Amino acid sequence: MSDLDAIDRAAAKLTNAEGGFPAQEQQPPGLTSKMEPLPDHGEEGWVGRERLPGLKALITGGDSGIGRAVAIAFAREGADVALSYLADEQSDAEDTKKWIEKAGRTCVLLPGDLTDEATARKVVDDAAEQLGGLTTVVNNAGFQWARRDRGLADLTTAEMDQVFRTNLYAMFWITQQALQYLGKGASVINVSSIQAYDPSTALIDYASTKAAINNFTVNLAAELGPKGIRVNAVAPGPIWTPLQPATKPGESMPTFGGDTPLGRAGQPSELAGAFVFLASQLEASYVSATVIGVTGGKPVF
Ligand code: NAD
Ligand code: MG
Repeated sequence: MSDLDAIDRAAAKLTNAEGGFPAQEQQPPGLTSKMEPLPDHGEEGWVGRERLPGLKALITGGDSGIGRAVAIAFAREGADVALSYLADEQSDAEDTKKWIEKAGRTCVLLPGDLTDEATARKVVDDAAEQLGGLTTVVNNAGFQWARRDRGLADLTTAEMDQVFRTNLYAMFWITQQALQYLGKGASVINVSSIQAYDPSTALIDYASTKAAINNFTVNLAAELGPKGIRVNAVAPGPIWTPLQPATKPGESMPTFGGDTPLGRAGQPSELAGAFVFLASQLEASYVSATVIGVTGGKPVF
């Protein structure tokens, strides 16, 4: 199958007749197997070209969605990967692991709740130990909650804690813990969002974390540049992953992604190229402190 066939296939899988998805809801963290239709993570489409030989990557939230697409592409490009995820997502993690092993690469599974500092730090140490080092950290785990009626007035401290600890604290802890393992040529890739630029009122806490992730990315790139370590981010637009039916009102799924210039949501597989590029020390050797938008046409500058 050619790359273009794969893209057509991904796009065709996206939509029902109205241009959206069937109304559906799950409880967080959400599972891939319960989604209708199933997302495309590049299982059939991604063709490896030896772009990441020898990389040892920790991908948080690597069980599903964008993280799974990144894990599959990284493995096909020659990387060994460690996946962090919540214990409830074991079945998704095992499915992802099968694809990694099918690509002939090592896959380390590291369940644990990253909102706990000790767990977050242990995930990094375990990844480095079991992969025999660490060259790449993809801070992809994230949480949002968008089933609110009154915006800020409905936001609870417990919800804020969950969002800030998952999206920000965990990223700080994981990256901090990884510093001892990362050397010249290593890179950190953070997952931002279109929400950092064009925030939705229902996601005021989540959008704030994504703006902070951009700021962290630029700042850390300045700090680590002299060591030859690059730090970048990817800002996705609306992507068909378990996060959506697990955190948004089910009736919003039919129009999900319809307000983008390309008129549809993206598939996780359509994100992988940005991550592979940023992770490649050959292709992106002079790229640091930048944010690549994969948004279906919404601006990220
Ligand atoms: P996803 O549900 O497949 O992935 C999110 C992952 O985060 C989960 O699989 C889970 O393993 C992990 N996670 C959440 N809370 C955790 C915790 N406490 N401890 C450990 N792991 C935890 O959904 P996704 O959309 O692929 O999300 C990946 C990233 O993409 C997130 O940072 C999200 O904010 C970002 N993003 C997604 C979209 C979108 O439309 N799907 C848009 C912009 C940004
Ligand atoms: Mg998941």
